[in-house]
Amino acid sequence: VISAESLRALYRPATAEAAPGDEARPQRVIITCMDPRLHPEQSLGIAVGDAYVIRNAGGRASADALRSLVVACGIQGVNEVVVIHHTDCRMLALTDEDIRVRLAKEFGIDVADGDIDFMTFSDVETSVLSDVTSVRESVFLPDTLAVSGFVCDIGSGRLERVPVEG
Ligand SMILES: [Zn+2]
Repeated sequence: VISAESLRALYRPATAEAAPGDEARPQRVIITCMDPRLHPEQSLGIAVGDAYVIRNAGGRASADALRSLVVACGIQGVNEVVVIHHTDCRMLALTDEDIRVRLAKEFGIDVADGDIDFMTFSDVETSVLSDVTSVRESVFLPDTLAVSGFVCDIGSGRLERVPVEG
């Protein structure tokens, strides 16, 4: 649990230099998993702050991830999207049904089939391709958007590009 003391210890007041203007806005969005073992900026060899990072379970191009992407591209001028899923992902090991059963058994929470799409997957390259396609095919995003997909090896942090046609 994060205490008020630890928050105070972490707090660094923003300086004028640390507050980037419009010209310093990143032009790239990373969509990736919330797994804390992933360090997407490090894997891409860019600095923290050089990309907008959208994180969720699995790193899926969910409706809400696309919502943020539309804002990033339409309002913030982003022109590149990188989808990064990873090896040893919990969303790869589980099915939607597994999650529903676990929630019911451990917490008595009833999530009916269809209430929440947990977007689990059984093959990490297929999920990357599927999400790259979702981003490319969104009618709310510009055709000029560069979209690429990678699988991150959780052990080494290295990225393997998933070949996408076109
Ligand atoms: Zn994951």
